[in-house]
Amino acid sequence: MSTALWYALAAAAANLIGGFVITAASAAGRATQRFLIAFGAGFMIATALVGMIPHAVDEGGEAAAAAVLVGYLLVHLTQHVLVAHFHFGEETHHEHMVSRWVGITALLGLLLHTFFDGVAIASGFHAGEWLGLLVFIAILLHKVPEGVTVASIMLASGNSARRAIGAVALLGVSTVAGVVLTEHVRILATTGLALSAGVTLYVAASNLVPEVQKKRSLSTSVAVFLGAGLFYVTYLLVRGYVEP
Ligand SMILES: [Zn+2]
Ligand SMILES: [Zn+2]
Repeated sequence: MSTALWYALAAAAANLIGGFVITAASAAGRATQRFLIAFGAGFMIATALVGMIPHAVDEGGEAAAAAVLVGYLLVHLTQHVLVAHFHFGEETHHEHMVSRWVGITALLGLLLHTFFDGVAIASGFHAGEWLGLLVFIAILLHKVPEGVTVASIMLASGNSARRAIGAVALLGVSTVAGVVLTEHVRILATTGLALSAGVTLYVAASNLVPEVQKKRSLSTSVAVFLGAGLFYVTYLLVRGYVEP
């Protein structure tokens, strides 16, 4: 089995943890969630802008830049245009959860994104071990809140707890499928890094940051800088070490 596949399985497990966390939600758990979302947002934005995009453009030029845009717009299409109600975090808007179908469309939208989580991990490792590891950390940081998101949307829209956990398991399967297909499908092998950079940017800047902005809190505001800063420091250290 490839290294990327092991990391994808770890990321899939974090999805499941999120699904089980939602069944035992507490105030402390919610505060940790918010911190994690903010920290993950900063780390992911930095990963996409500093780690993934320059590498993709180095290899693919202008076409890679266009693929970043396509990746970004694909998530907008599947999580906003085609879906009635979607945002990251625990679902509390019961007035929008009118039918089970709302939960299922949100799940379908998120499945494309989790597929590209896998593509990101695989193409990160393809570009270099150090980039693969940093991309994996970026993905892992939002995997628990991602599981929470889908499980709580499924529950709020009237689906059973078993279905909610099943939905979370599907997210994990789709991440693993992203890794496997990147290794076998030509277009993903060549433009996977650029496409998934666009997806990562959307998830961080357009899914996670709006969640951070919902509630004014010093610790979550600072956590965004911490996440981005920690990425950059690690990136400089690791890159200097691997490519002196
Ligand atoms: Zn909502
Ligand atoms: Zn994800």
